[in-house]
Amino acid sequence: MEEKFEPRIEEVEFLELIESGFSGCPVCQLNLETVRKSAFSILYELVNDPGIRTRLREGGLCPKHAGLLFQVLEESPDLGFLGISIILKDVLDHGTKLNLFEQSPYGRKKKGRKRSHECYFCRLEREANKRHISIFARMMTDHSERKIFERSESILCLPHTVELANSLFGTPHFEEILRIQEEKLHTLSSFLKSFIAKHDYRNTIPFTQEEASAWKKALEIISGGVISNKK
Ligand SMILES: [Zn+2]
Ligand SMILES: [Zn+2]
Repeated sequence: MEEKFEPRIEEVEFLELIESGFSGCPVCQLNLETVRKSAFSILYELVNDPGIRTRLREGGLCPKHAGLLFQVLEESPDLGFLGISIILKDVLDHGTKLNLFEQSPYGRKKKGRKRSHECYFCRLEREANKRHISIFARMMTDHSERKIFERSESILCLPHTVELANSLFGTPHFEEILRIQEEKLHTLSSFLKSFIAKHDYRNTIPFTQEEASAWKKALEIISGGVISNKK
């Protein structure tokens, strides 16, 4: 019997994503969407926002999020290159004052402060991740929502499974999640297995779509990174 349940407002985006046939890690994807939306709105309308300018100026940009800005600009040609140029000029003009120096081995006197360079978007992503993990953890304690996840194509990546363990380890819910994840990982592994097996020179059967793309999915699920944009 299906139970009726009312998802909380913050769970809706998770459920919509999971039920849309999305085949990657929902936490990774929602983190990425949060950062992508922010990058877009900064380039679109917040170029002159003094608070954001200060934070970009102080933290510079990490390679990952520089790549993301590049991608957003490529995907939305209407943004043009004025906004990004204003931002980058500002960062360059303050280039020797970045807090990058404080965190580098040259500027770091004290041991134990080993956080690597965190740019404005890194921080945003870290906060989004914390929020998304806690929403997902709460969803996974709900039987109906866990069933939706179980039946979906989505798989939690390995780093996010570890993070989920931080809040649910030792509970029966976590046992269930591990069981669900094991099944999902096994399915993915079996696609890799048949992909490998079909490389036999005697084989005449073509690869299925799942087999051909299994390595990309595995790359994402193992690393917790969104490599190809599936949306
Ligand atoms: Zn993930
Ligand atoms: Zn960053």
